[in-house]
Amino acid sequence: MASDEMQADAIRMRRALRAANLPSDFGTALAQLARDYVRDDKHLTEILADTPPEMKRDVYESLRPNLKFTAKPLDWYETQAKEQAEREKLPILGPDGRLLEFRPAQDISSVEKRAQEILDEAVAEKTLILRCKKCTALEKFFGLEHESRIDVIKKARRKGWVYDSTGKIPAEICPNCETSLRVAHEAHYGRAHA
Ligand SMILES: [Zn+2]
Repeated sequence: MASDEMQADAIRMRRALRAANLPSDFGTALAQLARDYVRDDKHLTEILADTPPEMKRDVYESLRPNLKFTAKPLDWYETQAKEQAEREKLPILGPDGRLLEFRPAQDISSVEKRAQEILDEAVAEKTLILRCKKCTALEKFFGLEHESRIDVIKKARRKGWVYDSTGKIPAEICPNCETSLRVAHEAHYGRAHA
C-alpha cells in the first residue's frame, strides 16, 4: 500500500519534471533545479510546500548542496509555508498528498472549546485529546465500549500521531507535521492512511 502511494508520488513528480523541461532522473533533475531554478528562500518554501510530505526531506537534502544561497533548516521552510497558508488561506497538501482547504490553527472558538472539554471530561476514560506541538492542530480519539485506553492510543498512533519524548516536556506531533521521529514511528505502526 505504502509503496503504491510512493509510486504514485514518483509518477506525479516525474510528470512535473517533464513539464518543467527537466531530466526525469531525480538526482540530476534536482541538482539542475537547485542551480538554475530555485531563486531564494521564498521560492524554496513554495517548492517544498508542493512536495508530498514523505518526500520533503529527500527533496530538501538533494536541493540544498546545489543552491545558489545557503539554505535554512527544513523546519524553517515548513513554518514559513504554514504561516503563509494561514495569511492567505491557501490550500495545503494533506498527508495523502492531496490538496486540502486550509483551516486556521485556532478554528474552535473558546466557548465551543470549553463546551467540548466538558463533554470530553464526561467520557475522559475513553477520550484521548492530542495537540500537535508544531502546528497546534487538535484531534480527539474515542474508545468504543469494548476498547481499552491502549486501543485508543493505538488508534492515534496508526493515524500518524507521533510521540516525541526528545524535548524537556514530552509532546505529540500530528500526521501533517514533519519530524525525524516519523521513520521509526512508521516502522513500528505502519504508514498512516488518511
Ligand atoms: Zn502538526
